[in-house]
Amino acid sequence: MSIPLATAASGLVTDVIEFSAVDGPGNRFVVFLQGCNFDCLACHNPYTINPCIDCGICLDACTTGALTMVDDRVVWTESLCTGTDACIVACPYDSTPKARPQAVAELMTQIRRAAGFISGVTVSGGEATQQAGFVQALFTAVKAEFPHLTCFVDSNGAAEPAIWDELDDVMDAAMIDLKCLDDALHVKLTGKSNQQVLDSIRLLAERGKLYEVRLLLMAGLNDSDQFLTNTARWLAAIDPTMRLKVIGYRAHGVRPSAVPLVEPTPAQRDHYATILSAESPFDLLLI
Ligand code: SF4
Ligand code: SF4
Repeated sequence: MSIPLATAASGLVTDVIEFSAVDGPGNRFVVFLQGCNFDCLACHNPYTINPCIDCGICLDACTTGALTMVDDRVVWTESLCTGTDACIVACPYDSTPKARPQAVAELMTQIRRAAGFISGVTVSGGEATQQAGFVQALFTAVKAEFPHLTCFVDSNGAAEPAIWDELDDVMDAAMIDLKCLDDALHVKLTGKSNQQVLDSIRLLAERGKLYEVRLLLMAGLNDSDQFLTNTARWLAAIDPTMRLKVIGYRAHGVRPSAVPLVEPTPAQRDHYATILSAESPFDLLLI
């Protein structure tokens, strides 16, 4: 999927957070990009999956005049927005009218304000690697002006090696989601094969650029002891002490699904850690 309006100099940006403690090491400036090549059943931000097609359906949901149609394009006026996200709820296309093209220079103005208080910049999504040229240009600008800031990508891992090559010079590391080691179940959960994800994890680990792998576990779906053991063995063969973040599924923000998605109990979460740790001395974080 190509992202309309995304170029090296300008990306289709959903949102920005100036300070985040959960998107990589330290305190980070986070840029969320619009558009994703997966369609995960358990996506917590499904409005980031597709670029807006300017259908206008969400205009009636906005009661403050923040959304208008100008030359067949939906325009969002931030100063009039009260943040109810009624537009996002009304959108039938997993999109948002609030995503907008932002230039590297525009983001750098914001990063400059935060630079004294952060340890780095993370680009997330959606799927960050869908706009790799823009990410590369942004990281290049960050490194040129603030060499002490680290540049991280938060990714579903479904990216060609050529994309990691393109980012290699300016990306310090990536955090990769492994939705499921079993490919058939991965297709059911995300709509796509996991082959590129597995290849990305291997490649980034070889290059010393894999910050962490994240497992999102749903009770009764991808959390069997056998599944966890297989996953732990596969990951341990790459790096037996890798940083592994185990995330218990939470229903908040997720779309209705034909496949039952169940939150694990605290006891089940603890059990995941026990099974995974039994296979390898991972640097394990349970959330
Ligand atoms: S990869 Fe992430 S953004 Fe894309 S659909 Fe899956 S959970 Fe959502
Ligand atoms: S955000 Fe959704 S409903 Fe609104 S114009 Fe875009 S595609 Fe249509």
